[in-house]
Amino acid sequence: MSKCECLPKCPFFNDKMKDTKGLAGIYKKKYCLGDNSNCARYMIFKKLGRDRVPADLYPNMHERAKKILEEHS
Ligand code: SF4
Repeated sequence: MSKCECLPKCPFFNDKMKDTKGLAGIYKKKYCLGDNSNCARYMIFKKLGRDRVPADLYPNMHERAKKILEEHS
C-alpha cells in the first residue's frame, strides 16, 4: 500500500477528468493512495506505456483495460 508512481502526472488524480458522480474521491483513496495494481489506467501504463492510456479511462474500467491489453499482446 503506497502512493501510485503516476500520481504527479495522472490526469485522473489531478482532476483533469470529469468526476464520475462524485466517485473520484473514493477511487483516489482506493487506487491512487491504496493499491494501484488494480487501477485500469495503471495496468495500461505499466504494460504499454503512458502514451497508450486512453484519456477517458477511469481506474475502475477493468474490462476495457483488459481488452486494450489483449489487443496489444
Ligand atoms: S492509481 Fe491509477 S488513477 Fe491513480 S494515479 Fe495511479 S494511474 Fe492514476
